[in-house]
Amino acid sequence: MPTMSGRQREVAKLIGAGEGLGKWRDWRWQVRHCIRDIATFERLLGVTLSDEDRGRLEEVIEKFPISVTPYYLSLISTDDLKNDPIFQQAIPSPSELMLHRCDLRDPLAEDRDCPVPGITHRYPDRVLFLVSNVCAMYCRHCTRKRRVGDVDHIPDRETLKLGIDYIRETPQVRDVLLSGGDPLMLSDDLLDWLLTELRAIEHVEVIRIGTRMPVVLPQRITDDLVAMLRRHNPLWVNTQFNHPREITSSSRQALRRMADAGLPLGNQTVLLAGVNDCPRIIRKLVHELVKSRVRPYYLYQCDLTEGLAHFRTPVGKGIEIIESLLGHTSGFAVPRYVIDAPGGGGKIPIMPNYLISWSTHRVVLRNYQGVITTYREPDSYEPVFCDRNCEECNLQLRLEGAEEYRAIGIEKLLADYDETTSLTPEGMERPFEGEERSGP
Ligand SMILES: *Cc1c(COP(=O)(O)O)cnc(C)c1O
Repeated sequence: MPTMSGRQREVAKLIGAGEGLGKWRDWRWQVRHCIRDIATFERLLGVTLSDEDRGRLEEVIEKFPISVTPYYLSLISTDDLKNDPIFQQAIPSPSELMLHRCDLRDPLAEDRDCPVPGITHRYPDRVLFLVSNVCAMYCRHCTRKRRVGDVDHIPDRETLKLGIDYIRETPQVRDVLLSGGDPLMLSDDLLDWLLTELRAIEHVEVIRIGTRMPVVLPQRITDDLVAMLRRHNPLWVNTQFNHPREITSSSRQALRRMADAGLPLGNQTVLLAGVNDCPRIIRKLVHELVKSRVRPYYLYQCDLTEGLAHFRTPVGKGIEIIESLLGHTSGFAVPRYVIDAPGGGGKIPIMPNYLISWSTHRVVLRNYQGVITTYREPDSYEPVFCDRNCEECNLQLRLEGAEEYRAIGIEKLLADYDETTSLTPEGMERPFEGEERSGP
Protein backbone atom coordinates (compact mmCIF):
# COMPACT_ATOMS: atom_id res chain seq x y z
CA MET A 1 0.00 0.00 0.00
CA PRO A 2 1.49 3.36 -0.95
CA THR A 3 1.73 5.64 2.07
CA MET A 4 -0.02 9.00 1.99
CA SER A 5 2.06 12.13 1.54
CA GLY A 6 1.82 15.03 4.00
CA ARG A 7 -0.17 17.03 1.48
CA GLN A 8 -2.60 14.14 0.97
CA ARG A 9 -3.22 13.86 4.70
CA GLU A 10 -3.88 17.57 4.87
CA VAL A 11 -6.32 17.54 1.94
CA ALA A 12 -8.06 14.45 3.29
CA LYS A 13 -8.52 16.03 6.73
CA LEU A 14 -9.84 19.28 5.32
CA ILE A 15 -12.39 17.46 3.20
CA GLY A 16 -13.34 14.64 5.39
CA ALA A 17 -14.75 15.91 8.66
CA GLY A 18 -12.69 13.19 10.27
CA GLU A 19 -13.40 10.40 7.79
CA GLY A 20 -11.11 11.56 4.94
CA LEU A 21 -7.98 9.76 6.09
CA GLY A 22 -9.63 6.36 6.19
CA LYS A 23 -11.55 6.87 2.96
CA TRP A 24 -8.73 8.22 0.80
CA ARG A 25 -8.24 4.91 -1.00
CA ASP A 26 -11.95 4.49 -1.73
CA TRP A 27 -12.41 5.67 -5.33
CA ARG A 28 -16.10 6.41 -4.82
CA TRP A 29 -15.25 8.67 -1.90
CA GLN A 30 -12.74 10.44 -4.15
CA VAL A 31 -15.41 10.91 -6.85
CA ARG A 32 -17.95 12.18 -4.31
CA HIS A 33 -15.47 14.75 -3.06
CA CYS A 34 -14.22 16.07 -6.38
CA ILE A 35 -13.36 19.76 -6.23
CA ARG A 36 -15.97 21.59 -8.28
CA ASP A 37 -15.45 25.25 -7.36
CA ILE A 38 -12.60 27.70 -6.97
CA ALA A 39 -13.18 28.48 -3.30
CA THR A 40 -12.77 24.81 -2.33
CA PHE A 41 -9.62 24.57 -4.40
CA GLU A 42 -8.20 27.55 -2.51
CA ARG A 43 -9.26 26.20 0.87
CA LEU A 44 -7.81 22.72 0.34
CA LEU A 45 -4.47 23.91 -0.97
CA GLY A 46 -4.19 26.88 1.38
CA VAL A 47 -3.80 29.42 -1.40
CA THR A 48 -5.59 32.73 -1.82
CA LEU A 49 -6.29 34.19 -5.23
CA SER A 50 -6.94 37.86 -5.79
CA ASP A 51 -10.64 38.73 -6.10
CA GLU A 52 -10.01 39.56 -9.73
CA ASP A 53 -8.36 36.21 -10.49
CA ARG A 54 -11.08 34.31 -8.66
CA GLY A 55 -13.77 36.21 -10.57
CA ARG A 56 -12.17 35.38 -13.90
CA LEU A 57 -11.87 31.68 -13.09
CA GLU A 58 -15.48 31.59 -11.97
CA GLU A 59 -16.46 33.03 -15.31
CA VAL A 60 -14.50 30.28 -17.09
CA ILE A 61 -16.12 27.45 -15.16
CA GLU A 62 -19.57 28.64 -16.13
CA LYS A 63 -18.68 27.66 -19.68
CA PHE A 64 -16.17 24.88 -19.01
CA PRO A 65 -16.81 23.31 -15.59
CA ILE A 66 -14.14 22.14 -13.18
CA SER A 67 -13.78 18.78 -11.47
CA VAL A 68 -10.60 17.53 -9.80
CA THR A 69 -10.17 14.44 -7.66
CA PRO A 70 -8.72 15.10 -4.18
CA TYR A 71 -5.87 12.75 -5.13
CA TYR A 72 -4.90 14.67 -8.27
CA LEU A 73 -5.30 17.99 -6.45
CA SER A 74 -2.88 16.76 -3.79
CA LEU A 75 -0.15 16.42 -6.44
CA ILE A 76 -0.15 20.19 -7.06
CA SER A 77 2.84 21.96 -5.66
CA THR A 78 1.99 25.49 -4.54
CA ASP A 79 5.60 26.73 -4.75
CA ASP A 80 5.19 27.97 -8.31
CA LEU A 81 1.49 27.42 -8.76
CA LYS A 82 0.91 28.90 -12.19
CA ASN A 83 3.69 26.82 -13.77
CA ASP A 84 2.80 23.63 -11.99
CA PRO A 85 2.01 20.91 -14.58
CA ILE A 86 -0.76 19.37 -12.47
CA PHE A 87 -2.33 22.76 -11.74
CA GLN A 88 -2.34 23.64 -15.43
CA GLN A 89 -4.09 20.42 -16.42
CA ALA A 90 -6.68 20.62 -13.63
CA ILE A 91 -7.45 24.25 -12.79
CA PRO A 92 -9.01 26.60 -15.38
CA SER A 93 -7.19 29.44 -17.03
CA PRO A 94 -8.78 32.69 -18.22
CA SER A 95 -7.21 31.89 -21.62
CA GLU A 96 -9.89 29.24 -22.16
CA LEU A 97 -12.39 31.97 -22.98
CA MET A 98 -10.20 33.54 -25.64
CA LEU A 99 -11.48 32.32 -28.96
CA HIS A 100 -9.14 32.04 -31.89
CA ARG A 101 -9.95 31.96 -35.55
CA CYS A 102 -8.83 28.38 -36.02
CA ASP A 103 -10.78 27.01 -33.03
CA LEU A 104 -13.42 24.40 -33.74
CA ARG A 105 -16.11 22.95 -31.54
CA ASP A 106 -15.79 19.44 -32.91
CA PRO A 107 -12.37 19.54 -34.58
CA LEU A 108 -12.24 15.83 -35.31
CA ALA A 109 -15.77 15.74 -36.77
CA GLU A 110 -16.60 12.89 -34.43
CA ASP A 111 -20.25 13.88 -34.56
CA ARG A 112 -20.27 13.26 -38.34
CA ASP A 113 -18.87 9.72 -38.68
CA CYS A 114 -21.48 8.61 -36.21
CA PRO A 115 -23.83 5.81 -37.35
CA VAL A 116 -25.50 5.40 -33.95
CA PRO A 117 -25.18 7.44 -30.73
CA GLY A 118 -21.81 6.84 -29.11
CA ILE A 119 -20.07 5.22 -32.08
CA THR A 120 -17.52 6.94 -34.31
CA HIS A 121 -16.67 4.69 -37.25
CA ARG A 122 -13.82 6.30 -39.15
CA TYR A 123 -11.30 3.57 -39.88
CA PRO A 124 -12.29 0.44 -41.78
CA ASP A 125 -11.66 -2.18 -39.10
CA ARG A 126 -12.14 -0.40 -35.77
CA VAL A 127 -14.57 1.88 -33.97
CA LEU A 128 -14.51 4.37 -31.15
CA PHE A 129 -17.30 3.67 -28.67
CA LEU A 130 -18.06 6.49 -26.20
CA VAL A 131 -19.53 4.57 -23.29
CA SER A 132 -19.62 7.26 -20.63
CA ASN A 133 -20.14 10.97 -20.52
CA VAL A 134 -18.40 11.34 -17.19
CA CYS A 135 -14.86 11.82 -15.97
CA ALA A 136 -13.52 12.05 -12.45
CA MET A 137 -11.30 14.88 -13.53
CA TYR A 138 -12.05 17.35 -16.29
CA CYS A 139 -8.74 17.87 -18.08
CA ARG A 140 -8.44 21.49 -19.10
CA HIS A 141 -7.00 20.30 -22.44
CA CYS A 142 -9.91 17.95 -23.20
CA THR A 143 -10.49 17.51 -26.92
CA ARG A 144 -14.19 16.89 -26.23
CA LYS A 145 -14.46 20.06 -24.15
CA ARG A 146 -17.77 20.88 -25.85
CA ARG A 147 -19.37 17.95 -24.07
CA VAL A 148 -17.73 18.21 -20.66
CA GLY A 149 -20.28 18.57 -17.93
CA ASP A 150 -23.18 18.64 -20.46
CA VAL A 151 -25.20 16.12 -18.60
CA ASP A 152 -23.00 13.91 -16.49
CA HIS A 153 -24.45 10.53 -17.09
CA ILE A 154 -23.53 6.94 -17.66
CA PRO A 155 -25.66 5.60 -20.50
CA ASP A 156 -27.97 2.78 -19.47
CA ARG A 157 -27.89 -0.70 -20.98
CA GLU A 158 -30.55 0.21 -23.56
CA THR A 159 -28.42 3.04 -24.97
CA LEU A 160 -25.24 0.98 -24.89
CA LYS A 161 -27.09 -1.78 -26.73
CA LEU A 162 -27.46 0.48 -29.79
CA GLY A 163 -23.68 0.62 -30.08
CA ILE A 164 -23.27 -3.08 -29.39
CA ASP A 165 -25.87 -3.89 -32.08
CA TYR A 166 -24.06 -1.71 -34.61
CA ILE A 167 -20.79 -3.53 -33.90
CA ARG A 168 -22.51 -6.91 -34.12
CA GLU A 169 -24.01 -6.00 -37.50
CA THR A 170 -20.73 -4.65 -38.89
CA PRO A 171 -18.44 -7.62 -39.45
CA GLN A 172 -15.38 -5.61 -40.51
CA VAL A 173 -15.02 -4.24 -36.96
CA ARG A 174 -12.29 -6.31 -35.30
CA ASP A 175 -11.14 -3.74 -32.73
CA VAL A 176 -13.39 -1.78 -30.37
CA LEU A 177 -11.98 1.20 -28.53
CA LEU A 178 -13.96 2.15 -25.43
CA SER A 179 -13.61 5.79 -24.52
CA GLY A 180 -15.75 8.60 -23.20
CA GLY A 181 -15.75 10.25 -20.78
CA ASP A 182 -13.88 7.65 -18.85
CA PRO A 183 -15.10 4.05 -19.29
CA LEU A 184 -13.81 3.22 -15.82
CA MET A 185 -16.46 5.54 -14.36
CA LEU A 186 -18.85 2.69 -15.12
CA SER A 187 -19.46 0.31 -12.25
CA ASP A 188 -17.61 -3.01 -12.39
CA ASP A 189 -20.92 -4.76 -13.09
CA LEU A 190 -21.97 -2.59 -16.00
CA LEU A 191 -18.49 -2.76 -17.51
CA ASP A 192 -18.42 -6.52 -17.07
CA TRP A 193 -21.76 -6.79 -18.85
CA LEU A 194 -20.56 -4.52 -21.71
CA LEU A 195 -17.31 -6.45 -22.17
CA THR A 196 -19.17 -9.76 -22.09
CA GLU A 197 -21.56 -8.54 -24.80
CA LEU A 198 -18.67 -7.36 -26.98
CA ARG A 199 -16.66 -10.55 -26.40
CA ALA A 200 -19.64 -12.59 -27.55
CA ILE A 201 -19.36 -11.02 -31.01
CA GLU A 202 -17.23 -13.35 -33.07
CA HIS A 203 -15.52 -10.76 -35.27
CA VAL A 204 -14.43 -8.58 -32.33
CA GLU A 205 -10.82 -9.68 -31.82
CA VAL A 206 -9.49 -7.02 -29.45
CA ILE A 207 -11.04 -4.50 -27.12
CA ARG A 208 -9.26 -1.44 -25.82
CA ILE A 209 -10.06 0.86 -22.93
CA GLY A 210 -8.87 4.47 -23.00
CA THR A 211 -8.79 5.77 -19.44
CA ARG A 212 -7.05 8.41 -17.41
CA MET A 213 -7.81 6.68 -14.11
CA PRO A 214 -4.23 5.51 -13.43
CA VAL A 215 -3.25 9.20 -13.58
CA VAL A 216 -6.09 11.06 -11.86
CA LEU A 217 -7.64 8.35 -9.69
CA PRO A 218 -5.38 5.29 -9.38
CA GLN A 219 -7.57 4.10 -6.48
CA ARG A 220 -10.07 3.05 -9.17
CA ILE A 221 -7.74 0.24 -10.26
CA THR A 222 -8.87 -2.14 -7.54
CA ASP A 223 -8.08 -5.84 -7.32
CA ASP A 224 -11.74 -6.56 -8.10
CA LEU A 225 -11.72 -4.43 -11.22
CA VAL A 226 -8.53 -6.02 -12.48
CA ALA A 227 -9.80 -9.52 -11.76
CA MET A 228 -12.87 -8.72 -13.86
CA LEU A 229 -10.90 -7.11 -16.72
CA ARG A 230 -8.50 -10.02 -17.04
CA ARG A 231 -11.39 -12.34 -17.82
CA HIS A 232 -11.90 -10.35 -21.02
CA ASN A 233 -8.38 -10.60 -22.38
CA PRO A 234 -7.10 -9.73 -24.99
CA LEU A 235 -7.94 -6.33 -23.56
CA TRP A 236 -5.58 -3.43 -24.08
CA VAL A 237 -5.51 -0.42 -21.78
CA ASN A 238 -4.31 2.99 -22.93
CA THR A 239 -3.81 5.74 -20.43
CA GLN A 240 -2.62 9.35 -20.54
CA PHE A 241 0.37 10.41 -18.47
CA ASN A 242 1.59 13.82 -19.62
CA HIS A 243 4.29 14.64 -17.08
CA PRO A 244 6.71 12.61 -14.91
CA ARG A 245 5.24 14.31 -11.82
CA GLU A 246 2.06 12.31 -12.39
CA ILE A 247 3.91 9.08 -11.75
CA THR A 248 3.51 8.37 -8.05
CA SER A 249 3.61 5.28 -5.85
CA SER A 250 -0.18 4.99 -6.22
CA SER A 251 -0.14 5.22 -9.99
CA ARG A 252 2.75 2.75 -10.17
CA GLN A 253 0.75 0.33 -8.08
CA ALA A 254 -2.26 0.70 -10.40
CA LEU A 255 -0.08 0.02 -13.44
CA ARG A 256 1.59 -2.94 -11.76
CA ARG A 257 -1.77 -4.53 -11.00
CA MET A 258 -2.90 -4.25 -14.60
CA ALA A 259 0.41 -5.41 -16.07
CA ASP A 260 0.47 -8.39 -13.69
CA ALA A 261 -3.01 -9.30 -14.95
CA GLY A 262 -1.62 -9.53 -18.47
CA LEU A 263 -3.29 -6.37 -19.75
CA PRO A 264 -0.97 -4.74 -22.30
CA LEU A 265 -0.54 -1.08 -21.34
CA GLY A 266 -0.02 1.92 -23.61
CA ASN A 267 0.19 5.64 -23.05
CA GLN A 268 -1.07 8.57 -25.11
CA THR A 269 0.61 11.83 -24.14
CA VAL A 270 -0.77 15.18 -25.26
CA LEU A 271 1.90 17.74 -26.11
CA LEU A 272 1.01 20.78 -23.99
CA ALA A 273 2.70 24.18 -24.03
CA GLY A 274 4.04 25.09 -20.60
CA VAL A 275 3.47 21.56 -19.30
CA ASN A 276 5.61 19.09 -21.22
CA ASP A 277 6.90 20.81 -24.38
CA CYS A 278 10.48 19.89 -23.58
CA PRO A 279 12.63 16.96 -24.76
CA ARG A 280 14.02 16.39 -21.27
CA ILE A 281 10.59 16.16 -19.66
CA ILE A 282 9.26 13.75 -22.29
CA ARG A 283 12.40 11.65 -22.07
CA LYS A 284 12.01 11.32 -18.32
CA LEU A 285 8.32 10.54 -18.78
CA VAL A 286 8.85 7.74 -21.32
CA HIS A 287 11.58 6.20 -19.17
CA GLU A 288 9.29 6.18 -16.15
CA LEU A 289 6.53 4.65 -18.25
CA VAL A 290 8.56 1.75 -19.60
CA LYS A 291 9.81 1.04 -16.07
CA SER A 292 6.15 0.52 -15.20
CA ARG A 293 5.67 -1.71 -18.28
CA VAL A 294 3.72 0.94 -20.17
CA ARG A 295 4.58 1.35 -23.85
CA PRO A 296 4.51 4.98 -25.04
CA TYR A 297 2.04 4.78 -27.93
CA TYR A 298 1.17 8.25 -29.21
CA LEU A 299 2.39 11.78 -28.67
CA TYR A 300 -0.54 13.96 -29.76
CA GLN A 301 -0.36 17.39 -31.22
CA CYS A 302 -2.94 19.43 -29.27
CA ASP A 303 -6.24 19.61 -31.18
CA LEU A 304 -7.92 22.74 -32.53
CA THR A 305 -10.66 22.51 -29.92
CA GLU A 306 -12.17 25.77 -28.69
CA GLY A 307 -10.47 27.04 -25.55
CA LEU A 308 -7.15 25.20 -26.01
CA ALA A 309 -5.13 27.86 -27.87
CA HIS A 310 -2.84 28.47 -24.89
CA PHE A 311 -1.86 24.78 -24.83
CA ARG A 312 -0.83 24.50 -28.47
CA THR A 313 2.77 24.28 -29.63
CA PRO A 314 4.15 24.56 -33.15
CA VAL A 315 4.47 21.18 -34.88
CA GLY A 316 8.24 21.72 -34.88
CA LYS A 317 8.27 21.19 -31.11
CA GLY A 318 6.93 17.69 -31.54
CA ILE A 319 9.45 16.90 -34.27
CA GLU A 320 12.25 18.22 -32.06
CA ILE A 321 11.10 15.92 -29.25
CA ILE A 322 10.95 12.85 -31.50
CA GLU A 323 14.39 13.77 -32.89
CA SER A 324 15.70 13.76 -29.33
CA LEU A 325 14.31 10.29 -28.66
CA LEU A 326 14.73 8.16 -31.79
CA GLY A 327 18.09 6.43 -31.66
CA HIS A 328 18.94 8.14 -28.39
CA THR A 329 16.85 5.77 -26.30
CA SER A 330 15.15 2.36 -26.44
CA GLY A 331 13.01 2.03 -29.55
CA PHE A 332 9.99 0.90 -27.58
CA ALA A 333 10.16 4.03 -25.42
CA VAL A 334 9.52 6.29 -28.41
CA PRO A 335 5.87 7.19 -29.09
CA ARG A 336 4.55 7.99 -32.53
CA TYR A 337 3.92 11.69 -32.96
CA VAL A 338 0.54 12.30 -34.60
CA ILE A 339 -1.77 15.11 -35.60
CA ASP A 340 -5.42 14.18 -35.56
CA ALA A 341 -6.52 15.78 -38.81
CA PRO A 342 -9.14 18.51 -38.41
CA GLY A 343 -12.30 17.57 -40.27
CA GLY A 344 -12.08 13.89 -39.46
CA GLY A 345 -9.08 12.72 -41.49
CA GLY A 346 -7.83 10.63 -38.59
CA LYS A 347 -4.34 10.48 -37.11
CA ILE A 348 -1.46 11.50 -39.33
CA PRO A 349 2.05 10.46 -38.27
CA ILE A 350 4.82 13.07 -38.31
CA MET A 351 8.52 12.16 -38.31
CA PRO A 352 11.85 13.85 -38.75
CA ASN A 353 13.35 13.03 -42.18
CA TYR A 354 15.86 10.21 -42.28
CA LEU A 355 15.79 9.58 -46.03
CA ILE A 356 18.03 12.25 -47.55
CA SER A 357 18.27 11.26 -51.19
CA TRP A 358 17.75 8.48 -53.64
CA SER A 359 18.87 7.06 -56.99
CA THR A 360 17.81 3.96 -58.91
CA HIS A 361 20.10 1.76 -56.86
CA ARG A 362 21.12 3.68 -53.75
CA VAL A 363 19.42 5.49 -50.94
CA VAL A 364 21.18 8.08 -48.83
CA LEU A 365 20.19 8.06 -45.17
CA ARG A 366 21.21 9.86 -42.02
CA ASN A 367 21.11 8.48 -38.50
CA TYR A 368 20.27 10.16 -35.19
CA GLN A 369 23.86 11.38 -34.77
CA GLY A 370 23.96 12.96 -38.21
CA VAL A 371 26.06 10.20 -39.80
CA ILE A 372 25.23 10.10 -43.50
CA THR A 373 25.30 6.69 -45.06
CA THR A 374 24.23 4.84 -48.19
CA TYR A 375 22.29 1.67 -48.59
CA ARG A 376 22.95 -0.19 -51.83
CA GLU A 377 19.74 -1.64 -53.16
CA PRO A 378 19.67 -5.21 -54.54
CA ASP A 379 20.49 -5.78 -58.22
CA SER A 380 18.68 -9.05 -58.31
CA TYR A 381 15.24 -8.12 -57.01
CA GLU A 382 12.67 -9.10 -59.62
CA PRO A 383 9.73 -6.76 -59.40
CA VAL A 384 6.69 -8.96 -59.22
CA PHE A 385 3.56 -7.86 -60.90
CA CYS A 386 0.91 -8.63 -58.33
CA ASP A 387 -2.44 -9.33 -59.92
CA ARG A 388 -3.85 -10.64 -56.67
CA ASN A 389 -3.78 -14.14 -58.01
CA CYS A 390 -2.80 -15.48 -54.61
CA GLU A 391 -3.47 -19.10 -55.62
CA GLU A 392 -0.47 -19.02 -57.98
CA CYS A 393 1.83 -16.96 -55.78
CA ASN A 394 5.03 -18.42 -54.33
CA LEU A 395 4.60 -16.58 -51.04
CA GLN A 396 3.15 -18.96 -48.54
CA LEU A 397 0.06 -17.15 -47.57
CA ARG A 398 -2.42 -19.53 -46.07
CA LEU A 399 -5.47 -18.43 -47.90
CA GLU A 400 -7.95 -20.06 -45.61
CA GLY A 401 -6.61 -17.98 -42.70
CA ALA A 402 -6.26 -14.72 -44.62
CA GLU A 403 -8.93 -12.10 -44.60
CA GLU A 404 -10.57 -10.60 -47.66
CA TYR A 405 -8.79 -7.37 -48.11
CA ARG A 406 -9.14 -4.47 -50.50
CA ALA A 407 -6.68 -1.61 -50.86
CA ILE A 408 -8.03 1.86 -50.22
CA GLY A 409 -6.55 5.36 -50.49
CA ILE A 410 -2.91 5.83 -51.46
CA GLU A 411 -2.33 2.09 -51.11
CA LYS A 412 -4.63 1.68 -54.11
CA LEU A 413 -2.40 3.90 -56.27
CA LEU A 414 0.53 1.59 -55.55
CA ALA A 415 -1.35 -1.63 -56.29
CA ASP A 416 -0.81 -3.42 -59.62
CA TYR A 417 -4.21 -5.06 -59.52
CA ASP A 418 -6.10 -1.76 -59.32
CA GLU A 419 -6.47 0.52 -62.34
CA THR A 420 -6.87 3.70 -60.29
CA THR A 421 -4.24 6.28 -61.28
CA SER A 422 -5.34 9.28 -59.28
CA LEU A 423 -7.48 10.33 -56.36
CA THR A 424 -9.41 13.55 -56.84
CA PRO A 425 -10.79 15.54 -53.94
CA GLU A 426 -14.54 15.88 -54.00
CA GLY A 427 -15.55 19.36 -55.07
CA MET A 428 -12.20 20.10 -56.73
CA GLU A 429 -12.48 23.16 -58.92
CA ARG A 430 -11.27 22.98 -62.53
CA PRO A 431 -10.68 26.10 -64.61
CA PHE A 432 -12.57 24.54 -67.52
CA GLU A 433 -15.21 21.91 -67.06
CA GLY A 434 -15.89 20.52 -70.56
CA GLU A 435 -18.10 17.71 -71.78
CA GLU A 436 -16.44 14.37 -71.39
CA ARG A 437 -15.20 13.25 -74.79
CA SER A 438 -14.59 9.72 -75.75
CA GLY A 439 -11.55 8.65 -77.72
CA PRO A 440 -8.83 10.86 -79.19
C1 LIG B 1 -7.77 7.21 -32.54
C2 LIG B 1 -8.97 6.64 -33.09
C3 LIG B 1 -9.07 5.26 -33.31
C4 LIG B 1 -7.94 4.30 -33.01
O1 LIG B 1 -6.83 4.59 -33.79
P1 LIG B 1 -5.50 3.74 -33.62
O2 LIG B 1 -4.51 4.45 -34.50
O3 LIG B 1 -5.82 2.36 -34.09
O4 LIG B 1 -5.11 3.76 -32.19
C5 LIG B 1 -10.24 4.78 -33.85
N1 LIG B 1 -11.26 5.60 -34.16
C6 LIG B 1 -11.19 6.94 -33.98
C7 LIG B 1 -12.35 7.78 -34.37
C8 LIG B 1 -10.04 7.51 -33.43
O5 LIG B 1 -9.99 8.83 -33.23
